[in-house]
Amino acid sequence: MKNVSKLQAITGAKCPHCRQGDIFEYPASRISRFTETKERCPVCGQRYEVEPGFFIGAMYISYSFAVALMVAVSVAVFVLGNDPALWVYLVAVITANILLVPFMFRYSRVLMLYWFSGIKYNPRAAP
Ligand SMILES: [Zn+2]
Repeated sequence: MKNVSKLQAITGAKCPHCRQGDIFEYPASRISRFTETKERCPVCGQRYEVEPGFFIGAMYISYSFAVALMVAVSVAVFVLGNDPALWVYLVAVITANILLVPFMFRYSRVLMLYWFSGIKYNPRAAP
């Protein structure tokens, strides 16, 4: 069993209980199936959806990602483009949001699991 830090487990989208098993069925690069979340950890058997509708809360985290991205892209367009026309802001913000949907979707679920599921790390959970 290897020792995995919390940051490594979060960035790698690993189970909050054992930090070994994957949370998602497919890599984020698989655009047609990036949303598919495993029901249970393949390593320790921890159930990910700890209560019905648990991941609905991830919507709020995802929303905060989208707002942060909108602000960051708008500031970048303002600075780099010397305050261009409104449509430039809209195109940049919408494009950035569409491109980062897999990232925002997956990490909102990962953070939901780590922050609000109540699942505690147990290094002995993995064989
Ligand atoms: Zn696990």
